[in-house]
Amino acid sequence: MRTLVVDHPLVTHKLTALRDVASDTATFRSLTDELVTLLAYEATREIRVQPVSVTTPVGIANGVKLARPVPLIVPVLRAGIGMLDGMTRLLPMADVGFVGLRRDEESLIASTYANRLPADLAERDTFVLDPMLATGGTLATVIEMLADRGAASVTAICLLAAPEGLKRVEQAFANGDSAPRVRVVTAAVDERLNERGYIVPGLGDAGDRLFGQI
Ligand code: URA
Repeated sequence: MRTLVVDHPLVTHKLTALRDVASDTATFRSLTDELVTLLAYEATREIRVQPVSVTTPVGIANGVKLARPVPLIVPVLRAGIGMLDGMTRLLPMADVGFVGLRRDEESLIASTYANRLPADLAERDTFVLDPMLATGGTLATVIEMLADRGAASVTAICLLAAPEGLKRVEQAFANGDSAPRVRVVTAAVDERLNERGYIVPGLGDAGDRLFGQI
């Protein structure tokens, strides 16, 4: 597994404001949106393209266009929905699948309650959106679901990651020829998880801060 911590002053500036408990819902939403677009720029660095040439007003220019089939974006419900606009801004042609996982607050084990994904993901670039890579249980489950459908590589975009979660995902997909290539792109790797599975210092409950405590 490869982990990319995007080291850029704009990313750190926006992440710092996002962490601030004083940032209200509207601010939190727009910062998430902007941050995802910045992370998406790096996350799409290896996206598949094919050569094309176009006619300019003064000649022929050789370039590229995104390869088919179009990329798949998978926001993990519910907090991942807050990252979707920021991602589709860069990939407006992408398909969007959905996965819903609920984390048991006692055991911290994630169980699936929604799953709408294409049956065949061979040859597709897949991007998972989940703001908090905490225990890694949710991300490992989602990557497993994508791998079951033939995804050869998965890029997860997370606003924040914990070392424990990165380790768990890395161990889950470390071995075997059939394991997908996994890449995590994040704005920061924090210190640790607390006893409730929250990232420290983190930013609290990303879903609640995006959508309210419902
Ligand atoms: N989910 C969150 O929203 N925040 C955390 O810190 C961990 C998991």
